[in-house]
Amino acid sequence: MTNTIAYDIPASLVAAFHGRKAIVRSPDPAELVENVTDLDLGNISFIKLLSLNGGIGALMAWGHGIPVDLVVSDPCRDLPLLYRYAPLLAVHPLRVSVPLVPGFGNVVKLAVSLNFAVKVEGGQPDEALTDEMQRIAQFYLHQTMVSEPVEFFHSLFMAFYHRDPVTLWAIQEEDPSLNRFITERGEEKLPGRLAGVESTQGFFAFLRELRNGLATGTDECAGCEFLLQCMGYFKWPRREYRCSGVKALMQTLRSAAEELRADMASLPSPEGEPI
Ligand code: SF4
Repeated sequence: MTNTIAYDIPASLVAAFHGRKAIVRSPDPAELVENVTDLDLGNISFIKLLSLNGGIGALMAWGHGIPVDLVVSDPCRDLPLLYRYAPLLAVHPLRVSVPLVPGFGNVVKLAVSLNFAVKVEGGQPDEALTDEMQRIAQFYLHQTMVSEPVEFFHSLFMAFYHRDPVTLWAIQEEDPSLNRFITERGEEKLPGRLAGVESTQGFFAFLRELRNGLATGTDECAGCEFLLQCMGYFKWPRREYRCSGVKALMQTLRSAAEELRADMASLPSPEGEPI
């Protein structure tokens, strides 16, 4: 298969990455619209708006139906700015990316009420944040008004439901075999939280240890019931991070998925047999 890596590129480098799968980013909506030509549209996964302070006029008029990722940097400051993007939903699918910091849950709830998808970014939450994550997981699982995915809860829930081997690295767009980050100067880096890692070798060696069940120095992973889906995601970058909170969160999602599987299995098929 070709073209499987998505490159997260600044808008100024769109021409240099022509023909390759790309995520195009800029703080300026007008710069995004100016740089992404009709020729590039087929290869654009989505565009990433790094600041919510600009107007929506340029993107409203663009009208290509390309998904737009609204990047929240500060939940408290950016929360009220989300309202102004609601009309954009008529033209583009919208997602809000919010960092895993105190107050992220308020952004999730507002985004959901506006029918935006959500991605929560970050790892190694402290105890207060894992409590907030649990509350948001319950909100995602039980509120009927949630019509768009809240990641990573949604994909992890689906992975448990379908018993798929998808990992959090892939769900969070941080799997180096699927995503790369390109700096303003055109340098290629690993994606997401791995962007500061100079060498890919250290990271891949870490993953190899986990896959081989060796997990030297990461005993918690070696015996973890969520290793298949997590693959050490919460042990990066600090291996000494203790996972009790995030494991409880994954348990919540897995229990809900198993409950749904059991409910579905008990439903009669059109022939009258359980499905
Ligand atoms: S939840 Fe923690 S212990 Fe389990 S696989 Fe993930 S990082 Fe390792």
